[in-house]
Amino acid sequence: MNLTNYHSHTSFCDGRAPMEDFVKEAVRQGFTSYGISSHAPLPFPTHWTMEKEDVAAYLEEFKNLKNEYKDKIELYISLEIDYLDEYNNPSADYFQNLPLDYRIGSVHLLNDDKGEIVDIDCSKENFKEKLEIHFNNDLKATVLTYYSKLMSMVELGGFDIVGHADKIAYNASFCQPGVTEEVWYQKAMKGLLALISEKGCMMEINTKAYHKLGVFYPDVPNFSLIKDLHIPVLVNSDSHYPELVNDGRAEALQALKAAGINTVMELVAGKWKEMPIFI
Ligand SMILES: [Zn+2]
Ligand SMILES: [Zn+2]
Repeated sequence: MNLTNYHSHTSFCDGRAPMEDFVKEAVRQGFTSYGISSHAPLPFPTHWTMEKEDVAAYLEEFKNLKNEYKDKIELYISLEIDYLDEYNNPSADYFQNLPLDYRIGSVHLLNDDKGEIVDIDCSKENFKEKLEIHFNNDLKATVLTYYSKLMSMVELGGFDIVGHADKIAYNASFCQPGVTEEVWYQKAMKGLLALISEKGCMMEINTKAYHKLGVFYPDVPNFSLIKDLHIPVLVNSDSHYPELVNDGRAEALQALKAAGINTVMELVAGKWKEMPIFI
């Protein structure tokens, strides 16, 4: 029944509950496999990423849970790793050498023209404010910087799944309604999808905001191109709360099917397999 999720946070980062609570809820809802992916350490402390000194405990806690729940669910360990710059990203030796089952690559941070790092993965009101303060209110340049960062991340590789590929779309659309229909925006998104396809990465359909904001990342208008480019997709809830592990999954699977995408990627006994959508 495609009861899987490979993007889940925990109290090691900004997730709101211990790792075991997510596992328990996934078991309770009959999930076949579940992946833990806290925010990887950055070279500076934040309130939403884990610290490097916590990584050993993170891996240890996972090992114990995997063993404890081995008869109930397949558990996998990952990290959601930021593409910060050419040195700090999923391809870095540090992340490559960690014993992870897979890696998610995401962009949450942009540099402003003073070199300050700005978190653009925020509320739409906060994004609008940051656009004025940090980016001279230049939405087009900011969006294009975001896409060029994603392109650099995909070029460099070192990860398996592209995290919430067009997350800026919602905030950008708040600042300028209809912006995602602009020719330059479409060109940026199409360029990204073409590169993801060329590099053979998997891409998640992120359902975290579906019930709150009514959008997937990437959202439905992109699904037909995703199909044409044969990009392997998976549906992830990016849950920060145990009760949301399954949030938006059925809706995303339905939307994929409606767009003619009939399979999703799932981990089965440690291998990524293309599975039919059973919805
Ligand atoms: Zn993220
Ligand atoms: Zn996440």
